[in-house]
Amino acid sequence: MNKYSLNYAQQLDKQDPLATMRAQFCIPKQDNSEEEYYFTGNSLGLQPKLAREYVLEFLDSWQQRGVKGHFEGDHPWMPYHEFLTEQAAQLVGGNNNEVVMMNSLTANLHFMMVSFYQPQGKRTKILIEDHAFPSDHYAVESQLKHHDLNEQKNLLLWQPRQDEELLNHDDLYQLIEQHGDEIALLLLPGVQYYTGQVLDMKTITEKAHAKGINVGFDLAHAVGNIELSLHDWQVDFACWCSYKYLNAGAGSVAGCFVHQQHAQNTELNRFAGWWGHDKTTRFNMVNNFQPIATAEGWQLSNPPVLSLAAIRGSFDTIKMAGGIKTLRKKSLKLTQYLLDLLNLELNGKITVITPLAEHQRGCQLSLVINKQVINDLGINGKTLFNRIEAKGVTTDWREPNVIRIAPVPLYNSFSDIYHFIRILKACLV
Ligand SMILES: *Cc1c(COP(=O)(O)O)cnc(C)c1O
Repeated sequence: MNKYSLNYAQQLDKQDPLATMRAQFCIPKQDNSEEEYYFTGNSLGLQPKLAREYVLEFLDSWQQRGVKGHFEGDHPWMPYHEFLTEQAAQLVGGNNNEVVMMNSLTANLHFMMVSFYQPQGKRTKILIEDHAFPSDHYAVESQLKHHDLNEQKNLLLWQPRQDEELLNHDDLYQLIEQHGDEIALLLLPGVQYYTGQVLDMKTITEKAHAKGINVGFDLAHAVGNIELSLHDWQVDFACWCSYKYLNAGAGSVAGCFVHQQHAQNTELNRFAGWWGHDKTTRFNMVNNFQPIATAEGWQLSNPPVLSLAAIRGSFDTIKMAGGIKTLRKKSLKLTQYLLDLLNLELNGKITVITPLAEHQRGCQLSLVINKQVINDLGINGKTLFNRIEAKGVTTDWREPNVIRIAPVPLYNSFSDIYHFIRILKACLV
């Protein structure tokens, strides 16, 4: 059967064991009241119905119990963050004592750099990639400033080669080899947000550690998307947000991993708050900070339950689906179907800049519409993007000319992908 047909896509949906998960989510509607073809889970994941339920449960508990809600009910607020630890740890491949949900992503990057970027002597540099997410770039630059270090001299950039989009690992390894004893910290994404390229976190960590460099990863586009083994890879720390592939709502609380070899080191420098203090004496209210010997020792404040409730709803939904392994299995098929249809129907019109090999990509593909095609139509890329949006397709646009499309295994179907190709094709003639 022709792969490019609604019939074929519907067959794939019928065979998909995760197809029923879509009903656990709220899918936005188009003006004509049909469901959108939503491909922006890489930017803001859709609302799990359980998130709504658990948030309401919190509001009810607050309404009925007041301060007693800290200790009463099925999910008392005092230890609320602990209800999330096991599932967060599974998502990133960490032990329970290595993971905590707290703060926001950029805030956590700063707090981690307080502990893991301590420039000394010759070792003062931070290495990031040239196209790092602006927030990460600003965070790193401001850390350098905070230490009175010259930003130009102390920021090392790993750049793609001339006329290439993707990062070449050999170039990074050469930078590490050449400048290893001057680099204090390497901060890289697990999945690059613009190209969708997955970095080889295991080998990068090995090579950096061999030169005595600390390694942190920003997993904003990796968590909930690909399988991770932070503990086994010996990663020093990692941070991620929960509103992209983790579907916990805009600005929801972020996650943080600290490898247990560091988490157990209560001497490690950090910015402290009372929630990082030993639980058995926290309420003695004495001014003698004793950090918890787990990732929780980096917490500052009592848990923001409203947001954590949404995360718990999201985590339970992921658990219902069978966890990240099961999701990734479907994800590979879903994105492969997208690649197949792009090849079959839009060959020569669209270039995929994301690496094609499975181990080098997550669910997202970054598409460039070829210049000639755009010119022939007499429009610009952004206009094309607006046209497909008007037909019910939600993707996202990144300057200068990339459409990012992220079919996610929890709520996207093979039929969604068929419709995307159908609509894109119609807009390109
Ligand atoms: C989404 C994203 C952010 C956003 O940071 P917030 O602190 O959550 O606003 C930062 N870095 C990367 C790599 C991202 O993908």
